[in-house]
Amino acid sequence: MEHAEATDRMAAARYLLDEMTEEERFAFEEHYFGCPACAEEVRDGSAMIDSLRAMRSQRAGSVVGFRPRTAAIPWALAAAAALAVVFLGYQNAALRRAPNPQVLRSYSLLTMGTRGANQVAIEHAGQPFALYLDIPPDPPYPNYRIEIQDPSGTARFAIPVSGGAAHETLTIYIPGGVLHPGKYGLVVFGMAANGKRSPVASYSVVVSSN
Ligand SMILES: [Zn+2]
Repeated sequence: MEHAEATDRMAAARYLLDEMTEEERFAFEEHYFGCPACAEEVRDGSAMIDSLRAMRSQRAGSVVGFRPRTAAIPWALAAAAALAVVFLGYQNAALRRAPNPQVLRSYSLLTMGTRGANQVAIEHAGQPFALYLDIPPDPPYPNYRIEIQDPSGTARFAIPVSGGAAHETLTIYIPGGVLHPGKYGLVVFGMAANGKRSPVASYSVVVSSN
């Protein structure tokens, strides 16, 4: 996919809203891994979605309780609205994160096997946390994609990682409240140049509310 085509088709927005066919998604991923402008659009849009999710989750927790089914549709509308805001380049100060330093709980996947046999337990799902992991160096791939999958295997979040960045230990920041209590899979895919993806590592992440 060329950059002009990505822009014309609102590719970044539709990618984040999961409105692409698999073929189109691979074509766009292949493009934006090498395109700073599109990568920035995806990153900014993704951060905005995280902020909105966290806000919505906090509201739901304090006012109406946890109602996943009825919350789904307003959330999709909120995401679409947020992306429209992002792509118009409008900065909404209310959505910025608190500026003060905070302690961030961190969980390491470094010493775990890469085949999902071990699991890491995360407490206090409403608070942000970080996961550390290494991507296995062999065989090398030009790019990687880390997915956080719900128990049905559906990707809740997808994080692109360049081959260069994969040489270092990665820190994945998870905003508070975006993962409801439950068991998730964290799967690392190697992305070949032709768009084919192969799982190279998987972990189990169990999130609890307290
Ligand atoms: Zn581009």
